[in-house]
Amino acid sequence: MKVDFLIIGQGIAGTVLSYTLMQAGQSVLVMDEYKPNSASRVAAGVINPVSGRRFTVAWQYDQIYPVAVQLYRELEQLLGVPVFKPRDIYNVLPSEQLKEAFMERTTGLSYMEDPPEEKVKTYGQWLDQPHGAAIVKGATILLHNLLPAWREYLKDHNSLREERLDISRLEIGPEGVKYANISARYLVFCEGAAIVNNPWFNYIPFLLNKGEVLTVQIPGFSTPDIVKRSVSLVPQGEDTYWVGATFAWDYPDEVPTAEKREILEKGLRQLLKVPYRVLDQLAAVRPSGTDRRPIMGLHPGYPSLGIFNGLGTKGCSLAPAMAAEFVAHVLRNEPLQVDTDIKRFFNRYKG
Ligand SMILES: Cc1cc2nc3c(=O)[nH]c(=O)nc-3n(C[C@H](O)[C@H](O)[C@H](O)COP(=O)(O)OP(=O)(O)OC[C@H]3O[C@@H](n4cnc5c(N)ncnc54)[C@H](O)[C@@H]3O)c2cc1C
Repeated sequence: MKVDFLIIGQGIAGTVLSYTLMQAGQSVLVMDEYKPNSASRVAAGVINPVSGRRFTVAWQYDQIYPVAVQLYRELEQLLGVPVFKPRDIYNVLPSEQLKEAFMERTTGLSYMEDPPEEKVKTYGQWLDQPHGAAIVKGATILLHNLLPAWREYLKDHNSLREERLDISRLEIGPEGVKYANISARYLVFCEGAAIVNNPWFNYIPFLLNKGEVLTVQIPGFSTPDIVKRSVSLVPQGEDTYWVGATFAWDYPDEVPTAEKREILEKGLRQLLKVPYRVLDQLAAVRPSGTDRRPIMGLHPGYPSLGIFNGLGTKGCSLAPAMAAEFVAHVLRNEPLQVDTDIKRFFNRYKG
């Protein structure tokens, strides 16, 4: 089998990149070893314009958001499943001091809104919100629809291998790569956190971080909004919510822990006036770089090998715009942004 691109991994990075390449007229084969707790399967798919404890507008948000909306809407049409859902993020403000900081940072931004009185009143039955709330216009990407639907699409088009890439069998030549009966002009690694074991890109400083989440039921409480305080509640249908997420940079394994469950439950108890029931707990590892920017480009010594990774905490909002830039770079030799180009780490490459 001969293809232009062999993509390793079908998380949000491999999904969006393979679609973008196909749209550019390239033949693509995706190879993915199914991992139930890949970052993309555990994530809630939230797109939030305002992030962090200092309420800063997310990096390049105004440029990347429209690209994301267009791509996810296209995939929705192509795959016939809901993928993109605009949502209000109802931010419960934790103190007067943080309320001031929040207002100072966000007043005047087009995606901010004061919550209507009626909404505050309704939420008052369920939420403890003595310092009020503010609405940020965000969205969720319905990853639990998108990832399996894209997988089926690839299968139907004979473009998926459900297996692990065994790097010891990979042959790299000047014109491309060979792997078993596959030859490809380029191989692009979209392996998420598994990148740290990749011998071609081990000079890149990744700073992986583990996140844990709960699935909870809050009997009788139903809203389409994301509700956020120290934890985010992301609706999963009726009165069930994804609750997350924690961060840990030093961790022995990918297994859920009692310690992080307690942190998430503490956040829930602070937020809710009503009882809840924990249905499940999951953990996954975010593929973050030390400078918290995407990491992409072609290998300095083996230019048929590429990397598309480092999406960190924001895979859903970043992947579409970054994939467009990666494809323009590889197919039309357009420069990547300095902030995302793998070249920023070339001084660490020993050859
Ligand atoms: C708890 C948590 C909550 C999050 N919440 C959000 C959120 O709300 N919004 C948001 O935008 N982002 C969120 N993120 C971040 C987001 O999940 C990541 O940015 C994104 O999923 C990274 O996608 P990826 O495709 O690079 O990696 P992954 O999703 O990890 O996918 C990598 C894929 O490659 C496969 N693979 C690896 N090695 C091989 C190999 N050798 N052969 C074959 N296949 C291989 C894996 O099996 C996997 O399927 C969250 C992350 C976590 C952990």
